[in-house]
Amino acid sequence: MRERGRRSDTEAQPLCLQFTKTVTARETATPRDSLLRPSDLAEWLADAGLGGRPPGLDEELLREARELRESIYRAARAVADAQEMAEADRDRINDWAARNDAFRVLDGAGVNWRFPGSSPARSALAVVAGDAVDTLGGLRVGTIKVCAGTGCVAVFLDTTRGKFRRWCSMSTCGNRAKKDAMRVRGAQ
Ligand SMILES: [Zn+2]
Repeated sequence: MRERGRRSDTEAQPLCLQFTKTVTARETATPRDSLLRPSDLAEWLADAGLGGRPPGLDEELLREARELRESIYRAARAVADAQEMAEADRDRINDWAARNDAFRVLDGAGVNWRFPGSSPARSALAVVAGDAVDTLGGLRVGTIKVCAGTGCVAVFLDTTRGKFRRWCSMSTCGNRAKKDAMRVRGAQ
């Protein structure tokens, strides 16, 4: 089993935006989707702390999950660009969020999710949709932005006080931009 909470706190992003980052390099010739098989999604949900690997995750649910993910991404882009989000995306997010039957419990080690419904994977995705309602609806403190990394266009929540954050992650896009800047300086 994978360890939870391995992302550093300063990089911690809302669940719904972590979900959109399962596609990277979106505006390049070679975007990468890491959710290609039902087992990829099961692993992501477990990794995100949404219970263990859920049973009964099939191709159909993977397809629906990817649709939800892209709706969240487009809606977040709209918020970042101060545009109105498309009704179809808003409806899809709301429909998923309305099916949320999950809840959290305290256990010896902290907090854990419980999914009492017939499909834990569906319930876990409903939690992600509910998180999108909170995040994109402005209930979270921060500003939704689009990463300035070349071709990345990941959406992230800038929670810094000065709102100066430009990259989705300092360990990837931020680091690359720093190296590029150094190369430019070195060439002069
Ligand atoms: Zn980025």
